[in-house]
Order: sequence, then C-alpha cells, then structure tokens
Amino acid sequence: MPSPLQGLDAALQQLRRDGLYRSRRVLDGAQGVRPVIDGRRMLSFCSNDYLGLAAHPTIAAALREGVERFGVGSGAAHLVTGHSEAHRALEHALADFVGRPRALLFSTGYMANIGVIGALAGRGDRIYADRLNHASLVDGARISGARLNRYPHGDIGRLRNLLHEEGPGLIVTDGVFSMDGDLAPLPALARLAADSGSWLMVDDAHGLGVLGERGRGSLRHFGLGLSQVPILMGTLGKAFGTFGAFVAGDETLIETLIQRARSYIYSTALPPGVAYATSTALRIASAEDWRRTHLAALVTRFRAGAAGLGLPLAASTTPIQPLIAGDSAKALAWSRFLEEHGVLVTAIRPPTVPRGSARLRITLSAAHTAADVDRLLELLALLPIEEQLVEST
Ligand SMILES: *Cc1c(COP(=O)(O)O)cnc(C)c1O
Repeated sequence: MPSPLQGLDAALQQLRRDGLYRSRRVLDGAQGVRPVIDGRRMLSFCSNDYLGLAAHPTIAAALREGVERFGVGSGAAHLVTGHSEAHRALEHALADFVGRPRALLFSTGYMANIGVIGALAGRGDRIYADRLNHASLVDGARISGARLNRYPHGDIGRLRNLLHEEGPGLIVTDGVFSMDGDLAPLPALARLAADSGSWLMVDDAHGLGVLGERGRGSLRHFGLGLSQVPILMGTLGKAFGTFGAFVAGDETLIETLIQRARSYIYSTALPPGVAYATSTALRIASAEDWRRTHLAALVTRFRAGAAGLGLPLAASTTPIQPLIAGDSAKALAWSRFLEEHGVLVTAIRPPTVPRGSARLRITLSAAHTAADVDRLLELLALLPIEEQLVEST
C-alpha cells in the first residue's frame, strides 16, 4: 500500500512546477517599511500596516501596561471567565468609533466572518457574495450550509437578477477588496438590499483606519449608517496595527452573535493586553489625521508616477495598488527582480486571486516616504512590462 503522504509529496511538487508553491520569510525585529528579512534590510511594500502603527512606541507601551494589569492569557472563552475589563472597554471604544450601538470582539477576522455568517444564515437561506470577496467570507458561507450565489465583481445588475430569481438573503461584500484595492459599490448594494428585503454585511478590513472622516472606513466614506448596512465587520491587525477583529451593529445583532456565533462561543478570548493596547491604537489612528493625509499623498504620487511609466494601473484609489502580471511565473519573476534590488513586494497567486491574474500586490503605508515610492517606481520602470501589455491587447 502506498503511504497517503506520497500523494501529498506529488501535490507539493506539482505546486512547485506551477509556480504556486508558497513559503515564508523570517522577519527579525518589528514589522515596518524597513524590516530585516532573512538577515537583510529591505524596503517593503507588502504589509497591511497602512498607518505605520504595528511597532508604534506608545502602543507597545500600552501592551506592556496591559500585561502588567491583566496578565498574558485570557484563560477562557468570553462566556466563561475570559471577558475582561480590557475587552469591555475596547468593545465600547470600537462601537463609539464606528458610530454603532454595540461591538463584539472576535479573536481574528477569519473567525468573525465564519461566526457571523453561520449565526445569521443556514440551510434553506441564501447568501449573495461578490466573486472577489475575501476567503473567510466564502468559507463562512460554505460552512453555514446556506445556498451561496456568487456574482461577478461589482456587478449590481447581475446581483439584482439573482435576488429577483432566488429571493432575499444575506449580501456579503468586502468594503475595500483586499487584492484589488477598489471599493465595493456600497450605496447601490444598500439600495438593492433595502429593495429586496435582504441584509447587507460589509467586511471593512482594509477601509477602517484608512478611509472616511478620521478613518471611520468605507461606510463613512459613502455616508452609510446602521440602517443601510446593519452588519459591519472590521479587523484590528491591519491599519490599527495590533490583532483581532470585531463586528458592530445594533443590540439585537450583537446579542444574537453572543448566543449563536460558534467561533465566538467556543474559542479563547483575545489576550486582554492586546485588547488594552488596541484601545490606544484606536485613539492614535483616529486622532492622527496626518497619517491618512500623508498616505493619500503617497497613493497619488505612486499612481502619477506609474501612469507616467505606462504601467497597467488598477482602478484603486486606496493604499492597495496591484500590478497585474497574469501568470504566476511572471509575477514571481517580477517579485524576485525587485528583491534583488532590496525592495520587497510579494507575488500574489491563485487561489488567492483568480487564475490568470497573478500580481504584485503593492501596499503603501504612512511610514513610507516620498523617496521610498520614487525608489519603487525606479525599479518598476525596469520591469519588462510592455511585453505583457502587447500580449493582453
Ligand atoms: C485580513 C482579512 C480578514 C481576516 O482577518 P484576520 O484578522 O487576519 O483573520 C478578513 N477579511 C478581509 C477582507 C481581510 O483582508
């Protein structure tokens, strides 16, 4: 009998041949735009630390203080004895930040999405999802057992037809699409949800802290509130620089999640020190508008420079600026070329993005300087990209 592991080896080899094999790099020291990776200092354009808070000294000090006050581990799930004053205060601050009656902490965004969708939809229900939604939203829908209808990216017309054919349900979308950087057509989605009697849930992992007045996110950017978007999910490990996630909505939604969301109920609460430090991160992210102003200026500078070079820019005005290569080998070659010159931009390949759309996912951070962006552009100018443009026309 062949060992089942032999099949795995063959599958790994196939991934290598297809340019889809993934491996990790080791960071020595803090996350930032100049991390030391595998012993070498690099200029990095691939974290989600959009505001440059992941190693902020005041937030680090708050984490130490939180550990002094609350210890290290939470020791139990929220519904047992894991729910501390640090969690309570952060939930309060998050609700206040997004302007909603309540917020509920989850240990990760992945768990929040799985928990919320499973609590609100099940067998016999319908879920409508943008085809480019984050994997955790797709997995949440699958695990729920509801019927999953995926519509082409941003295609409101197709969604309207689906709703008409299938009936109301739960519409779920990224606010800012994680690999493309564009915004979901939230006002149109909100209207469709209202017209069809559906719920709308927005995952704003990449909008919160970055978009809208004082970083209130995609909903604030579009002027949408609780009545249009009853379910808002956000993560804390991106612009806020710490770790964890939350869902915000009205009293009924949050109490329902506490009773029913399995990834909430059956999992250890976030370390309380992390919650404590996140309250500080939230204050800094909200107060320091200069971070958003500087970041927006870097995005403009990058796009102007890239347009001048004739690079194929995506329709994104956010700090996520993908450069589509098409096939995985090409994206990897581009990434390796930049790396040889000290610049780190990871190649994102299927299944994270659809087949044939492998890319460099360039992300900008408030911790970058204008000179950093210029250096990136200088190197991008040397990539053999014309070839790609000719092929695709
Ligand atoms: C990162 C991300 C998540 C998952 O959040 P984690 O806290 O990292 O588990 C969910 N949704 C989107 C859109 C994301 O980008």
